[in-house]
Amino acid sequence: MKRVALISDFDGTISRRDVGHHFFGTFIPDRARWLEILQQWRLGLISSRECLEGEFALVRADQEDLDTFIGNEVLDPYFKDFVDFCERRSSGILITSDGLDYYVDRLLMRFGLGYLEFKANRLVVADGALGAIEFPYYNLMECTRCGNCKRFHLEKLKREGFTTVYIGNGYSDRCPAEHADVVLAKGELLDHCRAQGIAHIPFENFRDVERELTDRFILHSGKFSL
Ligand SMILES: [Zn+2]
Repeated sequence: MKRVALISDFDGTISRRDVGHHFFGTFIPDRARWLEILQQWRLGLISSRECLEGEFALVRADQEDLDTFIGNEVLDPYFKDFVDFCERRSSGILITSDGLDYYVDRLLMRFGLGYLEFKANRLVVADGALGAIEFPYYNLMECTRCGNCKRFHLEKLKREGFTTVYIGNGYSDRCPAEHADVVLAKGELLDHCRAQGIAHIPFENFRDVERELTDRFILHSGKFSL
């Protein structure tokens, strides 16, 4: 029996809304240019990295604006229970985000989950200003779609012998979902899985995820196993 590794997207999957997208939507005055960049990204003409860099260059906000914005965002109401459920079964959860570490970290902290491991692009903040975005995981899989290629983190767990379960909802989840052993999908990712014939389990929230994992996985020695 193989151990199971759970990997989850953050924006719109763990957080109720896509925090990064709504932040840019609120603080980019040049809406026409912003929508143009998003369209290029959705068509696959530019990577998530180029998209983020383009959006970031248009943002007119400082750290205080971002902190206030984050203060109004919330997580899936069932996510904390889901983390407890995983911990009772000695299974960790790795969060992968093609958004920014700053708001992932602060939101997890606010909900008492600051200890969870996550991989994201890095927002550099200095003297109250939003300085730059760094991409520590860019192009590690020779992938031109992503900024932080979630597939890189997934493949690493596969090499360590885990069966991988990927949970996500959007464009940046296509890359890992095409390589995960089990996919739980909602939103745009669900449409993509249906269109591409990728085997998947639909879900709406983490209560559904918990139920699906309970139903489909054998609990072996207190741990998930296939
Ligand atoms: Zn990728």
